[in-house]
Amino acid sequence: MLPGIREFDRESPRGAPEISDIYRQSIERLVLMQRNGVTHFYGGPLHLDDEKDVWLSPVEVDDGEQYSYFQLLYVNTRPEEVLSNPDVAVSYLEIDEASFKLTAVDSLGYEQLTSQFSGDRKQVLIRHCKTGMAYYPRPVTPNEDPDLVYKHLEQLVDAIGIREPEVSVSLSKLSEKDRVPVTTDLLETVHARKYPFGGGEIHSYGLILDGDPWQYYEIFTPHEIERISGEDLLVRVDSGCDIGQIYDDKGCDCRDQLHTALLEMQEVGNGLVIHIPSQDGRGFGAATKMETEGLKRGIEVVFNKGNIEPVDTVVAARMVLGEDFDIRTYEGAGRVLASLGIKSILLKNDNRLKAEGLAAGGIRVTRKRTNTTGTDSSRQHIEAKHKHVTYFGEDEN
Ligand SMILES: [Zn+2]
Repeated sequence: MLPGIREFDRESPRGAPEISDIYRQSIERLVLMQRNGVTHFYGGPLHLDDEKDVWLSPVEVDDGEQYSYFQLLYVNTRPEEVLSNPDVAVSYLEIDEASFKLTAVDSLGYEQLTSQFSGDRKQVLIRHCKTGMAYYPRPVTPNEDPDLVYKHLEQLVDAIGIREPEVSVSLSKLSEKDRVPVTTDLLETVHARKYPFGGGEIHSYGLILDGDPWQYYEIFTPHEIERISGEDLLVRVDSGCDIGQIYDDKGCDCRDQLHTALLEMQEVGNGLVIHIPSQDGRGFGAATKMETEGLKRGIEVVFNKGNIEPVDTVVAARMVLGEDFDIRTYEGAGRVLASLGIKSILLKNDNRLKAEGLAAGGIRVTRKRTNTTGTDSSRQHIEAKHKHVTYFGEDEN
């Protein structure tokens, strides 16, 4: 049994989906190794450019009191190979998540990141994730305590049998003053930051919603949160996607959707994005998400033994989790809007469940199409989504 796999209380007002048997079984199948509080999932391939071979495995470390979420990036190698022969270079990769999600792909920061994946050398990069989730319902809230991170890193390295990272690569652009918690008149935030974006800037606010299944929320706006106002406010509810929004995986349009929405908000000078990092992979977490990435590429993985035809994102999710694969809920996003006094929105989304979830919370929702067309490689992903029953059709308003 995995640590933390438990039913949510059905009577609780948090609105969390309960854990279905099919989810429980799938997540247990996806464990590659479990030892001394460390759960290492098989993971799956990143879809970068052809010269880069990177495999991402989510890893959770639990010391009995607290847990952390790491991503292990296997460059030019695979987890099974490293576990049987741990003589491989290991580096620590530190990324400021929000700033990378807002970084232009042609920027210097990005070059620094992708250079870590270049060349033929076999290596493992270990990244501590401040937010996100390896599997539901274990969302990670930002943890900046270096002692705890180091303790969990040691536990991880020990359990897997690899050496300690020799090199630490920091791609964080933040200064100490950016990390200070700020309480605005409207919301108690764990931090408020400002990032350059699209020729202007984007303000970001992190907040923790107690009792919410996704726990940590981030708000991105083109100006200070106190200045948000008006009827029919332009809003996007954005589920996190580490592979698309941090590593620039070419297989999805999540980064494009986030940037397009923010650019539009900058242009009109109003609006907000409610970003929910732990909703990665339609709420099921990175362990399952990476399995679907393997299925999308037709790579032999846990749920694909001997049937190596590539499938689209929706079919892949169904193969692992059955018909009800989208377990995201939007009560928390509704709570964020309510605390800001926002009653009516223009929702920039293609997903029916988001619109319905917010409307159920008493928000008047008018839908606005996203209109991202994607690139050649993400086109298939977008088409598959629009064909699915929970999405608006491509021509539908
Ligand atoms: Zn994505």
